[in-house]
Amino acid sequence: MGVVHTVLGPVRPEHLGRIMHHEHLLSLTPGPWLAGGPRPGSSDEDELVALAVSALRGLAALGIGTVVDLSPYGVVGRDVDGNNVRLLRRISREASLHIVAGTAVYLEAYSPRWAVMADLNSMTERFLRDAVDGIGASGVRAGVFGEQATSLDQITAHEEKCLRAAIRAQRESGLGLTTHTTHGSMALEQVDILRQERADLSQVVIGHMDTHPSLDYVREVARTGVSIAFDTIGKQNWDFFLEPEPANRPDGEFVKLAYHQSDSTRATRIAALVQEGHVDQILLAQDLTGAEVYLNPGTHGQSGYSYLGGTFTAMLLERGVTEQQVDTMMRANPARLLATA
Ligand SMILES: [Zn+2]
Repeated sequence: MGVVHTVLGPVRPEHLGRIMHHEHLLSLTPGPWLAGGPRPGSSDEDELVALAVSALRGLAALGIGTVVDLSPYGVVGRDVDGNNVRLLRRISREASLHIVAGTAVYLEAYSPRWAVMADLNSMTERFLRDAVDGIGASGVRAGVFGEQATSLDQITAHEEKCLRAAIRAQRESGLGLTTHTTHGSMALEQVDILRQERADLSQVVIGHMDTHPSLDYVREVARTGVSIAFDTIGKQNWDFFLEPEPANRPDGEFVKLAYHQSDSTRATRIAALVQEGHVDQILLAQDLTGAEVYLNPGTHGQSGYSYLGGTFTAMLLERGVTEQQVDTMMRANPARLLATA
């Protein structure tokens, strides 16, 4: 196995510990007000770093040594040009954890204008530059591509372009790729595009498969040979906008999505998939963002990042998953994704 490109430089995969492969470290409150607002004399950036460092505090005791920030340009804490990934270096040093930065473009409605305007070749070049020279002006190299997103029940032309660009950059750089599906939809269509682009499926993770309503569909995706992520553990209740809030929204009804998926269903499904021989293809994470904490007071609202390692893995053990199999899902599988081919 090659090396892993963390925000502080290359690390050998065997030194990563257990890994949370899909998180967003600069999006832990819906706004600075929840942290009391910026302290006098400190910048908002200091507050963001301090909040992330304190949120990560419990992980070392759970054997988790690495967190991957999969924030795309312009959403979940990543700024439009990506320059603020430099803050991940401070968080890594102060929390004494390895951090890997992803790079990606999110759903079309949330994508920066420069990404919407870019053609396939220039998008591919941008992703490659992120991996080789660093994201934006930060000098921080991307260690993985993702979360590369497609919409609910459709893949727009822009989203397809960005997915193809990420796959081409993956093949060229040897880094891994994690996708975002919206509630698990369009996963098989993502696999079609991966095959057309001759992606290395052993280094691809289809994201958010724990939110698809049908276990049979999840099985079908796993049978294609890609890895699948149960990466929204703790998010039993979701509530989100399908598009950014318009500046001039008229009064009256508008479209929002709410969703419920219990962690007992997640645990039961993982146990079934492990039983069926898929343990080498499953990755676990929380995808925690501060905006959703209030909806989930019993899970990450209570335990934060410690919920997966502290509470949810016990639910897996109760269902017959072994400690060694948990280790495969939290250590070997994400390490394979992150190690350069
Ligand atoms: Zn995410």
